[in-house]
Amino acid sequence: MDYQLLADLLFPNVTETPDDVEAKFPPRQLPEGAKVTRFAPSPTGFVHFGGLFPSTICERLAHQSGGVFMLRIEDTDAKREVEGAAEGLIRTLAHYGIHFDEGAVIGEDGKICDRGNYGPYCQSQRGPIYHVFAKKLVSEGRAYPVFTTQEELDALNAVDKKAEIKAKDWHEDQSAQREAMRKAREITLDEVKAHLAAGDPFVLRILADGDPEKKTPFTDLIKGKLEIPENDEDFVLLKSDGIPTYHFAHAVDDHLMGTTHVIRGEEWLPSLAKHIMLFRYLGFRLPKFMHIAQIMRLDENGNKKKLSKRDMGANMDDYSRMGYDPACVCEYIMTLLNSNYEEWHAQNADKPYTDFPFNIKKMSSSGCLFDFDKLNDVSKNIISRMSAEEVTEKVTAWAMTYDPDFGKLLAKAPAFTESIFAIGRGGKKPRKDLATWADAKPYMGFFFDEIFTIEDAYDERFDKADVKAALNGFLATYDPADDMTVWFDKIKAIAREIGYADDMKAYKANPEAYRGNIADVSMFLRVALTGKLNAPDMYAVMQVLGEARVRARIEKMRDSL
Ligand code: GLU
Repeated sequence: MDYQLLADLLFPNVTETPDDVEAKFPPRQLPEGAKVTRFAPSPTGFVHFGGLFPSTICERLAHQSGGVFMLRIEDTDAKREVEGAAEGLIRTLAHYGIHFDEGAVIGEDGKICDRGNYGPYCQSQRGPIYHVFAKKLVSEGRAYPVFTTQEELDALNAVDKKAEIKAKDWHEDQSAQREAMRKAREITLDEVKAHLAAGDPFVLRILADGDPEKKTPFTDLIKGKLEIPENDEDFVLLKSDGIPTYHFAHAVDDHLMGTTHVIRGEEWLPSLAKHIMLFRYLGFRLPKFMHIAQIMRLDENGNKKKLSKRDMGANMDDYSRMGYDPACVCEYIMTLLNSNYEEWHAQNADKPYTDFPFNIKKMSSSGCLFDFDKLNDVSKNIISRMSAEEVTEKVTAWAMTYDPDFGKLLAKAPAFTESIFAIGRGGKKPRKDLATWADAKPYMGFFFDEIFTIEDAYDERFDKADVKAALNGFLATYDPADDMTVWFDKIKAIAREIGYADDMKAYKANPEAYRGNIADVSMFLRVALTGKLNAPDMYAVMQVLGEARVRARIEKMRDSL
């Protein structure tokens, strides 16, 4: 067979050579050890937590080493593409501080365009490049066309899908298919000419020379040493519309773009043999690979399950609605990525997470466990260290979008709001009430008369007359100018007057001697002022509420009893 002739017949319009293309993608001039990584999502929906996770790794490895981080949009499957998904993806990633040095970006007109010298960065625009390398493979007898009718094509695609999932099936169960492949490999130039003249579509398949009995040693940066059985499957390189499969586009793009580290989900591990073969056939140097385990979650029964697209916590856009600050989510990801992150963070509390020396070796090779409780803990710590001003700004901005009535209340009184968030902030042991901005309203909404309600009732065991007497006693002696000691002494006096212990020790030693204790009296005030049994420090709450509100609320409660 004259392979060059075959190549010319199949790709009459391809005039460039691989060398011409290579010349347009010169090797990058980067310092020794600099890593070039890419995030390569398919624009088929929202950013998944399981996507933010590897993109953080790619970003860290590139930027920590003085390298380059790219965004490549893998939009070769028009059927699965979702309108606007690529734009949404770019915006969401930026929201989480994932910034790319080059790749697909949103231009001034709101449309996707390229930034950088190694583009186009959307695969759908790289068609001519793939065809140059496809032609090369055909001309070297490494790939061949399989002409089909549409029906046959559908059947083949079905096989491909299955083969993708379990490559072995292809050999065991698809003997008819293999026979068809064997025949297809023997196509003659005359047959090709006849098919082309008839306008029949063809897919381009690789001519696999592997022996699955033979294994190639391979080191994955996360999975460690592996033995990869050679590929003997004639997998598809170009679909009948000329569009490349993932395998082919991956090899061509990562080579030309100078990717040094391919970081992707472990679902690609079974295809690695194909990729190794492709890089070899194309004469490309194999990059390093990191196959990341799926993120897991615990189900209702405590069993580990994959965090699927539909699970709570999967869609990154939900985090904005839930009120998570992106910085908290990023820190949480760091704790999942490197087990020593928290220790480092405790010692370097004032440094950004980007200062942490992220280390591939400290990553777990099995799936990380996604856990909202842990995220909330991380988040509470971070928010507890923010200034009252920052919290005010962020809560207000969040509420303006997701709870506008509340947002307007906050926006109308920024200084008042800030004084609320200043309670218990700034010291060695700051309060940790907020994991999300949505937690603000239940925590401090009571400060605003417009939404203040009594949520918790007094326990029935208290005599209403006692509560009334305590509230009246407070109204009679309250002076907002009192310092905390004087203020508390007055509450103690009220307790004594109504036959309650003014000291918890004395009460515990002899509870029968009292009708109640000082904590009960404080609680009478707390429920009247905040509507809740639990609230921040009462003295601070009263200072912020101001005399008029304090008196009005206590009077109202007294009158209702
Ligand atoms: N588009 C592929 C995916 O979303 C990219 C995998 C890769 O990073 O190579 O799974």
